[in-house]
Parts: sequence; C-alpha cells; structure tokens
Amino acid sequence: MEHNYNCILIRFGEIFLKGNNRNYFESLLIKNIKLALTGLNYRFARTQGRYFIEEFDPNDMDEIISRLTKVFGIHSISPTVKVKTDLDEICKVAAAISPKEGVFRVTVKRADKRYPMTSMELGAKIGGYMLYHTGGRLKVDLFDYDFELFVDLRESGYTYLFYDKIMGAQGLPTGCSGNAMLLLSGGIDSPVAGYVMAKRGLKIYAIHYHSFPYTSELALQKVKDLAKKLTPYCGDIKLAVVPFTEIQYAIHEHCPQEFMITIMRRFMMRIAERVARKYECGALITGESLGQVASQTMQSINVTNSVVTLPVFRPLIGNDKAEIIEIANKIDTFDISIRPYEDCCTVFLPKNPVIKPKLSEAIEYENRLDIDTLIDAAVENTVMETITVE
Ligand code: ATP
Ligand code: MG
Repeated sequence: MEHNYNCILIRFGEIFLKGNNRNYFESLLIKNIKLALTGLNYRFARTQGRYFIEEFDPNDMDEIISRLTKVFGIHSISPTVKVKTDLDEICKVAAAISPKEGVFRVTVKRADKRYPMTSMELGAKIGGYMLYHTGGRLKVDLFDYDFELFVDLRESGYTYLFYDKIMGAQGLPTGCSGNAMLLLSGGIDSPVAGYVMAKRGLKIYAIHYHSFPYTSELALQKVKDLAKKLTPYCGDIKLAVVPFTEIQYAIHEHCPQEFMITIMRRFMMRIAERVARKYECGALITGESLGQVASQTMQSINVTNSVVTLPVFRPLIGNDKAEIIEIANKIDTFDISIRPYEDCCTVFLPKNPVIKPKLSEAIEYENRLDIDTLIDAAVENTVMETITVE
C-alpha cells in the first residue's frame, strides 16, 4: 500500500467571499478545471464547498496536479486517500501513507457527527495505531511536529486522509472579470503582465505588431511560443498579428527621430483599442514598468495613454526588473523571452528617444500623417490566430 492516493481534493479561494456571485464564479471555476483536465479520465465530484477528482489512472496523478496548480481560483490541492468511514480501515491507511520516522500529529475533522467518537478520541486512536505499526521510529507532538496527517470524516460516509497542501494558483477564475487585450511583444515583461492580469479573472486576448521584412518569422514564432506558455493558465488565446512596417515607414519619413517611439506607441495603442472593441475586450494590458526605458516615463505614458479611452492595465508599473524576471521564470517564459530575435521597436530605434515628450508636439508631428488610413490598413491586414492549450 505504498501509493494508494485515489482522490484529489481541491479547495477554492477568494470566490468564497463573493456572496451572490458565488454560483457564477463556481460554474466558471468548474468549467476551467474541466478544460484543464481535457484528455484525462476522471470523475469530478462536488460536496460541501470542495471539489474532488476521483477514479483517475494513478499514473496520471502528477499530471492532474500539475495542471490543477495552474487553474486560477484554486486555493490549494491535496492528494488524498478516500475510504469508507471505518476506524480499522482508516488506521491501516494512516499507517500505510505515514512517513516511517519523524514527529507527527493527527488532526481529525468530524463533519459526520453521527460518528460515536470525538475528534480528539479519534486522533488519539489513529495516532496510537500509527506509532505501533510503522516500525517504532515515529513520535507524536501536537505542537512541534514535522508532518500533520489530516483525517476528514465527511457526512457522505467517507473519510479523506491527506498530508500535503499544495498551493494552487490563487486568484479568480479566468473569465469572471471579462476580456482584455494584451499588447504582447517578444520581451520579458508583457507575458508576465498577461499572466498577472489573467490571475485576476481576465480572459486574455493578445495583439502583436511585427515589421516584416525587418523582423523575421522566428521573431513571430517567439511571440506565439510565449502565448502558448500562458495557455495553461489562461486557456486558448486569440492572437492578432498586425503588420506594422508601413506605419513605421511613415513615421520615420515624416516625424523627428526622437519622437519615433512615442508616435509608434500611440499607433500601437490606437490599433489595440480598435481590435479590442471588436472582441469585446474592456481593457488593454501592457508590460510597462515606470522609468524602465525612455518610453515608460510618466510623461511618455501620459502621451501614449491619451489616444485611447479604454482603461489600460499596467500591472508591472511598480515592479523592478528582478521581480518581473522572477515571475517570468515561474511561468517559464523567461527562456523564450531572451531568445535573441529583433522586435519591431528595435528596428527603427532612434539614438536619443525623447524622455519627456510633450503631448502637443507628438500631436503636431503625428498630424503630418494620414493616421486613419494607416490604422485602417493595419487593422484590415491583421491576421487572427488561436493559440491553443499545449
Ligand atoms: P517587453 O519586455 O514587454 O517587451 P519592454 O521593456 O521591452 O517590454 P517596450 O518595448 O517599451 O518595453 O514596450 C512596452 C510595452 O509595449 C510592452 O510591455 C508591450 O505591452 C507593448 N509592446 C511593445 N512592443 C510591442 C509589439 N511589438 N507588439 C505588441 N506589444 C508591444
Ligand atoms: Mg519590448
């Protein structure tokens, strides 16, 4: 009886707090759990505010847990052994799954009040059995212990035994906050920004600007690979690929060098908003971090922000690069982000971008261009692609 975990217990987090919305949040969470477990055999059960994954192939347990840890809205997960509520059986399982040495305690929860012993009595019985049936190298200490065995007697007539609480992804179920459009470059920051906002329940759409022939097919592939890394958390992602070269030519030709980036970013924001509205996205998301580069000073952000009316979420605005990289490593996007392919912003990069652009100047230079025609053409030639869960 080495490996007899036959049930995975799922606890959900913040959605407890949501009062009347609880049913909506729960139905989304359940839908997302089932989506994440696509292709695996299992039975889903829901009792008393917890979910259980049962009747799966034991060989799939690690895979199931790995996928569940990426579903937002899940607070924690425990591999458990589910047995009929029978003290002999419970004791045997407890001894079987127990480490063979160390200090432990047993914590019993008795939701099933029909059971004729108190939680304390049950804990003592089970703990006593474990001491005598595991080779004599265990010790009990209720306050200073290495591991804690939880024994949950549920009203269903079944008991669940487990040790580990594996932290879930936390956050809110994807989709419960609506849709948002992520400006996804090939850099380190924007995929992290997408992840952070998806955690707050947003369904993520992505938009990428590329500059054929200055940026290669490989640069585009990098963006798709980044989006793919987000899918275990976000589900399928619709990616809009926008041809940006004509706009860059126009800016390059008619506007001062140092305003190149500022004006480019104003175009990006406008196009993002157009595409966002088409897909009913209620906000834009960028990976900007205050002061990181010239285009991310307060003045620059003001100038690029002022062309759109949708709210712009910049979840990394207060983060240092090191903090962003930590998350990028956690979600496994970092190694892709540092692949050395050029981004459209590096193609026409001016030597001295303006650090504190004036809005009036940006508007003046930009008005030399036929803004609407350029944007219409870019939007018209945008290609939509769906990046599916890996
Ligand atoms: P990142 O690492 O996310 O690329 P960055 O530090 O390189 O960010 P910028 O290049 O100034 O910063 O870009 C700021 C934000 O603008 C990015 O986080 C992203 O949201 C958006 N962005 C930049 N370039 C592109 C692009 N080619 N396609 C889509 N969005 C872009
Ligand atoms: Mg970038």
